Parts: sequence; C-alpha cells; structure tokens
Amino acid sequence: VCFEDRLTTPGRVIELCVDAVVGRDGVVQQFVGSARDVTNAAAVGDELEFARTHDALTGLPNRTTLQQRLSNAIHHIDDFDSSVALIMIDVDEFSVVNDSLGHSAGDEILVTLARRIERVLRFGDVVARLGGDEFAIVCNDIDGIEDARRAARRIIETIAEPIDVEHGQLNLKGSAGVAIASGSDDGSERLLRDADVALTIAKANGRHRVEVFDLSMRTQAVERLDLEQDLHRAVRDDEFEVFYQPLIRLADAEVGGFEALIRWHHPKRGLINPVDFIPLAEATGLIVEIGNWVIVQACEQVARWKHQSGGARSLVVSVNLSARQLADPDLVGTVAGAVAQAGISPNSLELEITESVLMNDPVLATTILHALRALGVRLAIDDFGTGHSSLGYLKQFPVDTLKVDRSFVQGLGLDRDDEAIVKAVISMGHALGLSVTAEGIETVAQRDALEALGCDTGQGFYFAKPQTAGVASALVGRHLRWERHLKAA
Ligand code: C2E
Ligand code: CA
Ligand code: CA
Repeated sequence: VCFEDRLTTPGRVIELCVDAVVGRDGVVQQFVGSARDVTNAAAVGDELEFARTHDALTGLPNRTTLQQRLSNAIHHIDDFDSSVALIMIDVDEFSVVNDSLGHSAGDEILVTLARRIERVLRFGDVVARLGGDEFAIVCNDIDGIEDARRAARRIIETIAEPIDVEHGQLNLKGSAGVAIASGSDDGSERLLRDADVALTIAKANGRHRVEVFDLSMRTQAVERLDLEQDLHRAVRDDEFEVFYQPLIRLADAEVGGFEALIRWHHPKRGLINPVDFIPLAEATGLIVEIGNWVIVQACEQVARWKHQSGGARSLVVSVNLSARQLADPDLVGTVAGAVAQAGISPNSLELEITESVLMNDPVLATTILHALRALGVRLAIDDFGTGHSSLGYLKQFPVDTLKVDRSFVQGLGLDRDDEAIVKAVISMGHALGLSVTAEGIETVAQRDALEALGCDTGQGFYFAKPQTAGVASALVGRHLRWERHLKAA
C-alpha cells in the first residue's frame, strides 16, 4: 500500500487506498485505487479507535495521529521532488473569548474554526487539533518557503473571517509558525519543536502573523523564556515605575493632565520600554496584575497633585487598558476600589482602550464601557484611526475622548491624506460631543496645524517626554504653560 487516507466529509467517512503493482523487475506497472464508504463501520466498530486517534470536540485527528502522519510524510519525502511543511496555529487571545463568552460558546467557536481550516486545505493535507486553541497542519507537496507561507496565510485569513456569536460578531486573529522538512532525516520531533518556536515568535511579534522557522529563532525563543521568568520576578519585587507624559490643552497651553506610561527597571538590562514587555505580559496574563497596579499608582498620584496644589488643580490621569484587562471580570471592582482608596473624584481618571481592542468584540466592549462609565470615570479610544471602527459603534461606545493615532499626526504638513484624516476625526469627534487629543506631536508645525484644526489636547515629545512622577510634579507645582515656541526645560 503506498497511500491510505480517510476523508471525513460531512456525515460520511470514506476510506481511500492506493496500491502499487510492482513487476518482477521491481518497476511499478500500475496503481490500483479504491474508495470505500466506511461510515457505518466507523460508527459501530471503530468508535474506540476513533476516540484514541481523534479530538472529541472537533472530530479532527489528535496529536498522536498528527505525529504519525508527519513521520509518514517525512519518511516518503525523498520519493518526491517536494517538501513537507508543518504549520502550527494558535488563536490569539482565545482565553479572552473563553472568559467573556463562556466555555461552551468557546467550544462552538473552536468547531467553527476547525471546519474553516479544513475548507482551505489542499488535497492530502491533514489538520489536527493539538488541544486548547492550537491546531497543526501537515502539508505534503510543498514547493519551497513561499508556498508554505501562502498555505499558512490562507489559514489565518480564514480564522479572521467574522464569527457570529449570540450578541453580534467576533473578529478573531490567528498566528502561525511554520517549519519545513526537505529531507527524510529531518525528524518529526524536530519539526514539531521548530514550528512551535516559530509560532512563539509569531505571537511575540504581534497578532495575525506567519513566521517560518530559521535557526536564529531558537535563541530568540530562549530569550523570551528568560524574559518571561524575569517578568514574574518583576511583579513580585516591584521593579516597575509609572512615568507621566503631560497632556496639553492647545487653546491655552495649560497642562490638563498626564498619561501614565509604565517602565520596567530590569536589574540587568536597565530601563525597558513597554513595547518590549507589554505583549509578553499580555500573552502570559500577567498584564492584569501589572495593569491593576498602574491604576492604583495613577490614582494615588493624581490625589497627590490635587493636594500639592491645595485643591486648585483638577488634573486628569489617563491609564491604558489592555485586552485582557478589559475582559477581566474584576475590572470594574478594581477601578472602583482604586478611585475610592485614593479619595479622588472618579472623573480625574480616564481609561484608554485602543480602537482595535474595542472592535475585537464591540458588543461586549460596549457593555463593559457602560459599567465603567457608571462609576463616573472618563473613557478614551486610543490609537484612533487604526482599528477600523464603524461610525455606528463609535456612536454606541460611551466615551469622552478620541486620541488620534501618532501615525496621522506625523503626516501633518507632509501627507495630504493624513491631514484629511486628522481633520475628519476632529470634526467627527466634536460632532459627537467628544474631546479630541492628538498623540505624538513632535514639531511646532504639527502643534500649530492641530490648533488651527480645533484639536483640543496635544501630547508629544514637542511638549515633553514621559517623565518620573517627581519631574511631572514639578511641572504641576510651577503651573507651567507651554507658550508658543516655549518648550519645557
Ligand atoms: P500608547 O498608549 O499609544 O502611548 C503613547 C506612546 O507614544 C508612549 O510610548 C509615548 O512615550 C509615545 N510618545 C509620546 N509622544 C511621542 C512623540 O512625540 N513621538 C514618539 N515617537 N512617541 C511618542 P511608551 O511609553 O513606550 O508606551 C508604548 C505603549 O505601551 C503605549 O502606547 C501603550 O499601548 C502601552 N503601555 C504603556 N503603559 C501601559 C500600561 O500601564 N498598561 C498597558 N496595558 N499598556 C501600556
Ligand atoms: Ca495610550
Ligand atoms: Ca496611543
């Protein structure tokens, strides 16, 4: 037998078998093929065997079967002029779905994803569920790296198609790690390990990505593991500090508040910026604990500023919330607790959520935003313009502020499209009764352009970089204003 497979089409199980008839001279004379409907046999006789080799939820082959298929494919690789690719898929932030929609809805979604992946496979490819939200695909007959990359892309594209859930639509993203075997001495174990490493890198580099394994990734994976251990220690040993970047009212150049931005004092590596550890904190779930700590710090700080100015200044402090935090069932309680403990008025705290996180599950987001809003805290949509929100949702989200993404501000004076976008966001924000903040102002020209467009608030290196609570407090104390062309010392 040179080829044997089972096709599971909806409701039927078909067994395929191809035999080679070899003559006395050892040359293949013909191939004989057969297809047999074994649905009944599969249902009656093979139940145990099926359970041993398949995943109960999705009916896909399980890890054991995958390993077998992979070994077979690699074993025969030298017979054909092509390679075998192993693609590992992980659904990004699936735990958030499970936490927010419940496990049975989560299960249904996994089944939907399994069927979608099957649909985009090529003949002879095998998809297995490895457990949780992890799938793996063995692709035979791969014609080089680009071909494997394309196969993986097709899979993460099908995962990204919207999924209907009870109260609306869900937009999931997947990450893919690919490893390619080109000779029969590439062991299946190694391929599994390499694809897993590539997947880890894909997830670390952001969502909705495909990474193909190369040797340098092994070092990267080790570094990431080290960083993860360090992150646990950092939480325990209090290695974080909150920096504050002023938010300047453009009309009168006064400091209206600060955005709280976390920094990590790593004992060996020095100061680490959030872009280098927030994604990892998010992936490991540590972000909830870290983020809650930032909320408490920021509330205490704004209370100190109020006290420092004898109650004269009412500053607002903005804190970023990640996707995991938004899905945390204790979020509302945590925020209420931090505000009460610091003794501040709830509208001294603003919570920033990126547009893309809100649009992940806009219906659920709306519910959570309303619960936060009921506490009296302010809400902002961060990185606005990058997350494809629809006007309908924008009207529905109970927010106070839109933060125009830095990328558009940087195009002011250079790119007419960016200018048009900034202008449109400002007038739309105002029409909806929202305050508009522009991020990433670096030049006086950008500042002037924004003021001319009627933008309410500005933030950026032109005014000041994020700084320690001490330096920020000095600004509050001096009641500093940013006059035109006058920069902070
Ligand atoms: P973000 O919320 O968009 O924050 C603004 C980022 O832009 C900050 O980077 C800030 O330093 C930077 N920035 C401000 N003005 C300028 C400018 O004029 N030019 C340029 N090139 N950059 C400017 P930072 O502090 O490195 O933070 C990066 C991201 O990390 C933040 O982006 C936010 O998404 C995340 N982050 C920071 N702190 C926290 C936190 O406590 N919790 C969570 N969940 N995320 C955080
Ligand atoms: Ca922000
Ligand atoms: Ca931002």
